[in-house]
Amino acid sequence: MTPTPILDNHMHLNPSGRCLEAVREFVHAGGTHIVLVSLPPWSLGIEINAPGDYRTVFDKVLKIGRRAEENEKVKVFVILGVHPAELTKYYGRLGFSRAVDIMKGGLEIASEYVKDGKAIGLKSGRPHYPVEPRLWDASNDIMRYSFELAKDAGCAVQVHTESSTEEGLLEIARIAGDAGLPAQKVVKHFSPPMVKICERTGIFPSVLAGEDAIRKALAEGTRFMMETDYIDDLERPGSVLGPKTVPKRTKQLISEWGEDAFWRIHKENPERVYGIEVNI
Ligand SMILES: [Zn+2]
Repeated sequence: MTPTPILDNHMHLNPSGRCLEAVREFVHAGGTHIVLVSLPPWSLGIEINAPGDYRTVFDKVLKIGRRAEENEKVKVFVILGVHPAELTKYYGRLGFSRAVDIMKGGLEIASEYVKDGKAIGLKSGRPHYPVEPRLWDASNDIMRYSFELAKDAGCAVQVHTESSTEEGLLEIARIAGDAGLPAQKVVKHFSPPMVKICERTGIFPSVLAGEDAIRKALAEGTRFMMETDYIDDLERPGSVLGPKTVPKRTKQLISEWGEDAFWRIHKENPERVYGIEVNI
């Protein structure tokens, strides 16, 4: 029987963090596939002044992914894009409309990497904290643009958003629909275990694999993926789940919920959402 792959759908790796050591920990715990998401530029010590500066960020992420694959028995898929907090951080220094344009330009570059087969999806979203209306509107505009680019590139978008409500998710699904992107290509990162609500809205949840969340998610179905949002920041240990969490949780629950459920979660779901192959 083919063993079930174990995929963490949202992880970061930073050369100034534990990086390859974290990958080793993931693999030793039984993890087989990582969806590696680009960090905000400042986490990598890169200052953004023009869209082209995102290439430095993205190339760094791709290099980390390659090194992980060379050093450990793991497959890495990369997601590139912008973080919603970038707008808040940049507009004072760069000017409001310039900051928006630069972030859109960054997304265009990310979509080129997808078309070149270097990445499997985009990252965008809107702030998870309250912001003034023009920031909110501009964030929606940037997110909408990421959906348009994803439609053209035929890829998915992982979104970082405010805490999920059915209303909020429906609004995001509508924005995606207007841009021509099916809602199931929109992956809600850092999702609570609201599998049924997501199913109703079409948005695809990536559930944070905390203590009871996966059990709660499984009670509602198997239409979700699992993630840690491991941030690989030595100064914030314990602020997020560790790299072992997804494999550990999977092994803990597989006897209770069955191999088939996790085959869907770790293989069929990511294959369908991203158009990738998840094989061991
Ligand atoms: Zn993240």
